Amino acid sequence: MLVVMKAQATREQIQAVCEAIERLGFRAHPLPGAQRTAIGITGNQGEVDRGNLEELPGVAEVIRVSKAYKLASRDVKEEDTVIRFAGEGTAQAATIGGRELAIIAGPCSIESREQAFAIAELVAASGAQFFRGGAYKPRTSPYAFQGLGIEALRIMAEIRSRFGLRIVTEAIDNESLELVAEWADVVQIGARNMQNYSLLKHAGQLRKPVLIKRGLSATLEEFLMAAEYVMSEGNYEVILCERGVRTFADHARNTLDLSIIPAIRRVSHLPILVDPSHGTGKRDSVLPMARAAVASGADGILVEVHDHPELALSDGPQSIYPAQFACMMEELQQIAPVVGRSLSRGARNEAAKA
Ligand code: PEP
Ligand code: MN
Repeated sequence: MLVVMKAQATREQIQAVCEAIERLGFRAHPLPGAQRTAIGITGNQGEVDRGNLEELPGVAEVIRVSKAYKLASRDVKEEDTVIRFAGEGTAQAATIGGRELAIIAGPCSIESREQAFAIAELVAASGAQFFRGGAYKPRTSPYAFQGLGIEALRIMAEIRSRFGLRIVTEAIDNESLELVAEWADVVQIGARNMQNYSLLKHAGQLRKPVLIKRGLSATLEEFLMAAEYVMSEGNYEVILCERGVRTFADHARNTLDLSIIPAIRRVSHLPILVDPSHGTGKRDSVLPMARAAVASGADGILVEVHDHPELALSDGPQSIYPAQFACMMEELQQIAPVVGRSLSRGARNEAAKA
């Protein structure tokens, strides 16, 4: 259910409606929009008695949200969600979901301070706003490199202050979530954990953006229900990321499903990024699919970059070289205006050099 407030409703009226919802034993989720505030109701099994709510001052109407996902739906919030990062220290203000494309770049795993710093410097110089790097790695083999853990988080914190890059890194369980939430700017939930409901609920208790990667065989509804888990706990800063799904195709590691971009944008207000690295598994396919991703309406790109991919401890074959990343940024800058976006790299270049 959804309470739509009148455009001129006061803050006190919104608060009073939230309290009335909570008195009924449900949870109220006020979501401010450009024109008006909508208040999502969760926790109810059937219809909520709308009569009482509709009578409250400032309420325009009470409507039923028919989709399984509620808070993630455009029915509840019409405008695109824009996640804002305030400028602080060396980092300039940034957004995910706005007109400006968000670019998250870095190695699959943090392998050493030297490796991470070398790559961070190069991606910052090319204009990335966010640095990615795995500290905790969900590997198919228990014998494969599992990540440097807290040491990697410390390295990334240094990278943030040195290069002004915001940090995106994955939490693989509730234990690592606490540490990642403490150090990172965006908490990533990996494809394999997209349906780890305990982890999603814990991520929902954070007040920090959460980036959810699409599960290996997740439908659009399952993907949005993962976002709903986080939002139902009161964390509305959710970013989706398409990263390829399993199909019969054997020319690529995964099949990058760009058709989900317009489909998601139609039904959800949440930002959606594309990861062409895991989406293809092949270095040569990364740039073409990054171009296509932006053309299809994605809000940005998450990409693996490595200065010595042949030596990488994870995902070397899909990691692009820093020079390819620079080229990607130039190309995306040209494509962006065609689809009503922008990619401004100049100012950040200066910040990275300073
Ligand atoms: C990653 O981003 O390095 C990663 C493990 O991604 P995914 O969860 O999409 O496989
Ligand atoms: Mn990877």
